[in-house]
Amino acid sequence: MGQNRVGAVVLAGGQGRRMHSAVQKQYLILAGKPLIVYSLEAFMRSPVDETVLVVGAGEQEYARREILLPYGMEKAVAVAEGGKERYHSVYAGLQALQGCDYVLIHDGARPLVTQEIICRAIQGAVDHQACVVGMPVKDTIKVADDRGYAANTPDRARLWQVQTPQAFSYALVRQAYDRLMADESLQAGVTDDAMVVEGVAGHKVKLLLGSYENLKVTTPEDMVLAEALLRKRLR
Ligand code: C5P
Repeated sequence: MGQNRVGAVVLAGGQGRRMHSAVQKQYLILAGKPLIVYSLEAFMRSPVDETVLVVGAGEQEYARREILLPYGMEKAVAVAEGGKERYHSVYAGLQALQGCDYVLIHDGARPLVTQEIICRAIQGAVDHQACVVGMPVKDTIKVADDRGYAANTPDRARLWQVQTPQAFSYALVRQAYDRLMADESLQAGVTDDAMVVEGVAGHKVKLLLGSYENLKVTTPEDMVLAEALLRKRLR
């Protein structure tokens, strides 16, 4: 991408409790390889210049030995220690990058990210300073009231399910995260990076098309789907 240096933060610092598995989901074997390896390999093949893998507390050595070394990525990928919430892990990753103009933040739990999506996100960051990939929702979405009744039904034509990568000018997202980390009152309910850039920095975030295949592996049935999609690609 010309003179611009692009970094990637790949997040694998979550507990993955919804998977109900003894092994953390990022290290589960999916179509022959640990789940986290797929997105790391995708960034290695892409125009990204620098990649940081963020893992849970005390898992850095394990990640180097069991993930990076066997797959030949120990020199190319730095490892950082994440924190309690996703935004703590993102901040650790942003701080660990050596010097980038743009950064892609990616859930390591999305192994089906493609080169096309990565390149679209990089171009989106260059064009708009802030972008996320996602897809129009297929289902009708209801907002529930606090007693579990449908309170309202937003217009489906305007609803997107947001995925990752989410891509930004490094200076913009770093400034937003510096402010978020300094002020606990801003932290409630933060589940993605676009929210931080919109809410804290007040910067518009462009929505770009991802893919319905770019799913986040969260529950056991997602493993079945992801495995089938990965095997289809390998054929
Ligand atoms: O919990 P959620 O599904 O939003 O997690 C999305 C991604 O963020 C996953 O790849 C997970 O490993 C990562 N994460 C993290 N640190 C946390 C929580 C989640 O790196 N404290």
